[in-house]
Amino acid sequence: MDRHPVRTLEELEDWNAEEPSLAVLGRPVAHSLSPVMHAVALARLAREDAAFGAWRYHKFDVPPERLAEALPLFHARGFLGINLTIPHKVLAVGLVRAIDPFAADAGAVNTLRRRDDGYEGFNTDGHGVARAITDELGTAIRGSHVVVLGAGGAARATAVTCLAERCASLAIGNRTPANLEALLSILRPLAGAAGTPVRGFDPSRPPADLPADALVINATSAGLAADDPPPIDLGRLRGAPMVYDMIYNPPATELLRAAAARGLRAANGLSMLAHQGARSLEIWTGRSVPAAPMLAACRAALRPTGPSGVS
Ligand code: NAP
Repeated sequence: MDRHPVRTLEELEDWNAEEPSLAVLGRPVAHSLSPVMHAVALARLAREDAAFGAWRYHKFDVPPERLAEALPLFHARGFLGINLTIPHKVLAVGLVRAIDPFAADAGAVNTLRRRDDGYEGFNTDGHGVARAITDELGTAIRGSHVVVLGAGGAARATAVTCLAERCASLAIGNRTPANLEALLSILRPLAGAAGTPVRGFDPSRPPADLPADALVINATSAGLAADDPPPIDLGRLRGAPMVYDMIYNPPATELLRAAAARGLRAANGLSMLAHQGARSLEIWTGRSVPAAPMLAACRAALRPTGPSGVS
């Protein structure tokens, strides 16, 4: 069960906590398990260095139109590190003092590290999704025909990772054509350098010639709400695709249910969450952080607690 409250920018105005603070910022953010898994990881780090026992990780509801004013406020209140989730990752690129090369290529940041004059941006989503696909699906991006659904922050990091890992081909499906085109314009030079075919498509009408047996990665928000339809009709893809859905709460989306009904190999985003989170904590602490205890904490938090179901 996740007992971490969702905090607001109004609470931040009056923030006077003495302890070193970290936070995830998003809208929606209530579903995020980041506070749960970071609390476990910090408790483990505290066994090596007691100072980490005082660190706290919070979740804040921040609308995109207030991110630019929010970041200086988090800095003024002393926050050491920040994770960004929907819909902030692309927007934040223009708000950081410095950016690491992978995040710059992706045009998206999910991890901010404090420095004296503001925050420095990193992106750990690409690391997270690559590790999760290996762990959960038993396959590698390298050599796979990949179909990424979405063109937001998580999709950008995933697409750039796929090219860096030398996927066999990359197809991006996104609902809004302008956002799809913005991502394709980032990817074309990288794909050209890697010699990898890249194309975009409308996910409501997947082209008939998409490669068979593709690795399908859902990086859209479709599925966060229980009644969301799947972002693609798996019946329109050839062969036996493998499905990685970045959504982890709810643990089973319509896309994952459709994959199960077809007997396809599939997994939700819990493992990615743990791997990207472990890497973020490494950036903030300079210590080595294993992902496995963080994943176990997330699994425990999602376990049904009784008649009311998932907590
Ligand atoms: P984002 O930057 O806000 O991008 C959202 C993407 O979802 C956009 O491509 C958007 O398409 C698409 N979308 C939104 N609602 C949709 C709908 N109803 N139908 C189809 N497409 C829709 O968000 P993000 O940070 O990339 O995150 C995307 C998803 O990945 C979220 O569900 C997030 O929770 C998940 N995620 C999970 C992890 C993990 O560790 N497991 C890490 C990162 C992200 P348009 O361009 O058409 O608006």
